[in-house]
Formats: sequence, structure tokens, C-alpha cells
Amino acid sequence: MAQLHGVGSREHFAKLENYDQGKSALHRAQGGKCAYCERFTPVDGNPLEHFRPKKGAIRADRSVDRAHYWWLCWTWENHVFACNTCNGQSRKGNRFHVERAMATPNVSQAVPIPAEFFDWTAENAALIDPATEDPLDHLEWRPNASTRRLSPKLWQWDICGLTARGEATIAILQLDANIDVVAATIRNHVLPRVEAIRARGDAGALADAREQWERLLSDTVENPSSELRGPTWSALQHLLAEVERQRFGLRAAMRP
Ligand SMILES: [Zn+2]
Repeated sequence: MAQLHGVGSREHFAKLENYDQGKSALHRAQGGKCAYCERFTPVDGNPLEHFRPKKGAIRADRSVDRAHYWWLCWTWENHVFACNTCNGQSRKGNRFHVERAMATPNVSQAVPIPAEFFDWTAENAALIDPATEDPLDHLEWRPNASTRRLSPKLWQWDICGLTARGEATIAILQLDANIDVVAATIRNHVLPRVEAIRARGDAGALADAREQWERLLSDTVENPSSELRGPTWSALQHLLAEVERQRFGLRAAMRP
């Protein structure tokens, strides 16, 4: 259709379909969670998401690259499973900010599309790719400075960008909208277990403390089917300081 009617024609864009056969497999591979917010999301009614939009990529200056990235519509490496909220028009939608956009393949000269159009490394995308990058290199959940001196039960949490790309990802996905859910998970499901471990450690029952710590890790950050592993990993660094962890002989949690 691109050959016959031109790139970006109605006929061409109408053929950008039948790309979501892998949706259920992605949903399973992602432990039933949205790739962006890490919350459990049913497969039905939520989209297979194109990391690079299949058409009409919106850049940081709000200009629209209409033809980007139709040729990646069916490319597995460009697919993730995401929730409707993260993928909604007010959040990620078609936003895809880059330093230098890829060229559009010239279909009149070359079919099939040459491999160079599938190498996106030179774009320097702002959004962290959850399939190939570690978000924890760019983002961190931290106790809010004004609540830090209170008991951890009363801590509020902030999500902070450690890099410019982390900041951009927080802004595009509005990850700070999930802070209440993250805070409740930490307060209700992580903190009580950390406090029990600390009590055992302080009482000198180090074997007990170690066993409970291992169980906490295998239930949460080290369990691929657990929700909010990234925030939980971040929170653990603050709830049990390294010096205390080492005093109790507890290993560091593996990064999810
Ligand atoms: Zn989401």
C-alpha cells in the first residue's frame, strides 16, 4: 500500500493492522503486568503497545512525524504489553521524544526494508525501553525528605529521575500518579516484614532474620510475577540500610 498509494496515505495506514498476535505471549512473559507501571493488568481490553508508535510520533517540541514508525508496526522488539492508562493519550500515547529521528525508509527504491531502518540506537530515545533497559539505572523511589525523620509507617514516597531520561520517562508516563499505590504496597506488604526481620536481628536471632529476609525477597523483588518490583527494590534500600543489613548478615536484594 505504501508502494501503491504512498507512505502515510489513508490506504497505507489502513493496513497497519494484525500486529497483535503476540499480545498474550507478551502478557505472560511480563508476568501479567504493564511494562510501564508494573501493575497487574488483564490481557483483555488492554493494548499491545508499540514502543515506537506505529504512526504519528509526537516529538518533544510537539511536532508530529506522521510516517514514524509504520515499518516497525509488526516488529517484535518494538512490542510491549501495557495498560490503557499508561498508553493513554494523556500519557505515553504517541509521544516519542528523540535527539535525532530515524529516516523513513524509501519504499519506492527498496523492498523489503533494509536492516538499517531497524537499528534505532542512533535516535537516543528519551523514554526508557522496559524490554531492554534497566529502569533502576534511571529512576528511584525515595522517602520524601520532609517525612524522612518520622517513623517509616508515615513516610511518603517520591519518584526521582537519576538521569535526564529518567526525568523524561517520569513526565511522559506520569509515574508519580502511582505514588499512592506504591506507598500503600510498601507500607502494608513490605515494611511489616522488614520490621519483623529487624526485630529478629536485634534479638541476635540471625538465622531467623536471614530466613525471613530470603522469603521476603523471593515473594517480592525476586519473584517475576510480583507487582511493583522496581519500587519495592528501591524502597528496600531505604527501609533497611546497607550497614544494618550487613550487621545481620543479609545479602543484597537482586535487582529485578
Ligand atoms: Zn501501566
